[in-house]
Amino acid sequence: MGANRNLTGGTAIMKKISLVVPVYNEEDNIEHFTAKVKEVMSAQKYDYELIFVDDGSKDRSREILRRLEQDDKRVCSIFLAKNSGHQLALTCGMDYAEGDAVITMDGDMQHPPELLPELIARWEKGAQVVQTIRETTEGVSLFKRLTSKYYYRLMNFLAEVPIRAGGSDFRLMDRQVVLEFRRYREHARFIRGIVGSMGYRQELFTFVAPQRFAGTSKFSLRKMLNFAVDGILAYSRVPLRISLYAGFLLGFASILYFINVIYERYSGQTVEGWATIVGMMLLFGGIQLVFLGIMGEYIGRIFEEVKARPLYSVARLSPTLTPRNKQEDGNVLYG
Ligand code: UDP
Ligand code: MG
Repeated sequence: MGANRNLTGGTAIMKKISLVVPVYNEEDNIEHFTAKVKEVMSAQKYDYELIFVDDGSKDRSREILRRLEQDDKRVCSIFLAKNSGHQLALTCGMDYAEGDAVITMDGDMQHPPELLPELIARWEKGAQVVQTIRETTEGVSLFKRLTSKYYYRLMNFLAEVPIRAGGSDFRLMDRQVVLEFRRYREHARFIRGIVGSMGYRQELFTFVAPQRFAGTSKFSLRKMLNFAVDGILAYSRVPLRISLYAGFLLGFASILYFINVIYERYSGQTVEGWATIVGMMLLFGGIQLVFLGIMGEYIGRIFEEVKARPLYSVARLSPTLTPRNKQEDGNVLYG
C-alpha cells in the first residue's frame, strides 16, 4: 500500500503515479517514449502524470514538449533555465511530482516503459522504494562497462554506505519517501546513494537495459568523471583522512630513519650539520602532515554539517502524536 492521500476521506480514489523524466536534447526520443508510456499506462488502473524536465535542451525537444502538453493534459513539462545535469533535473521533477508513487526514468527507452506495471505491482505489495539494477546494457562499450565496474568497487571501498553496482536512476518511490527526499538539499548529489541510505522498505529489481532508441549518450567523459567524483566525495571522508594516516605512517618511518641518521652521524661518515638538517626535515614533515590530517577531520565534520541533511526520518507516528512543523503538502520541515 502506498502513502494514500485519501483526500475525499471516504471511498477510495484512484491512485496517481508520477513519471519523472529528465531530457536533454532528446528530440528523436520524446514522442516515441511518450507514446509507449501512454500505451502501457492506459492498460493500468491508475491516474498518472508524465513530467518531463527539460535540462536546457538546444534542439527541438522543447517545441515537441509544448505540443505534447497541449495534446494531453497528463503530459507536462518543466524547462530548466540551463543545463543543470541529470541529478538536479531528477530532483526538480521529484519536487513537483504529486503522485502517490513517483517513478524516475530516462527518456531514451533504456529504462523500458514495459516494466512500469511490474514496479507498480511491487509498490502495491508493500515496497516503498523499488530500486532497479541494470544487469547488462546491450551494446555498451567495454570501456563504460569496465569503468562502471571498477568505480563501484572503489566506491564501496571508500563509501560509508553500500552502493550497489549497476544501480540506476530508474526507480519507484512512495510518496512518503519522496517527501522525505525533498528535505535533502545538498548541491553535489548522488541520488542513488541518498535513496539507498534513507531506509524504508526497499526492494531491488533487476532488468536488462536495451540500447538507446535514438541519439547518443548525453554523458560526456567529463560529465561521467564529475558524477563519479561527486559520488565518492558525497559519501566518503576517506580522502580527507588520507593525510592523517600518511602523517602517522611517515612520522613513524621517520623515527626509524632518524635512528639510522644518528648511527651514521656517529660512525663518522657524514658532513657536519647533516644529521640536524635531516632530523628537522623529518620532524617538521611529519608534524605538518599530522596537522593537515587534523584539519581534514574538521573539514570533514563541516562538510557533514553544511549538507544539512535531516537528522532522522519518521516512518510512522501514532495518531495521538502531532507531526512537527508540517508544510501544506505534509512535508515535515525540521527533524
Ligand atoms: N540528461 C539530462 N541532463 C544531462 C544529461 C542527460 O537530463 O545533462 C538526461 C538524458 O536526456 C536522458 C537521461 O538523462 O534522458 C540519461 O542520460 P543518457 O541516456 O545520456 O545517459 P546514459 O544512459 O548514457 O548513461
Ligand atoms: Mg541512456
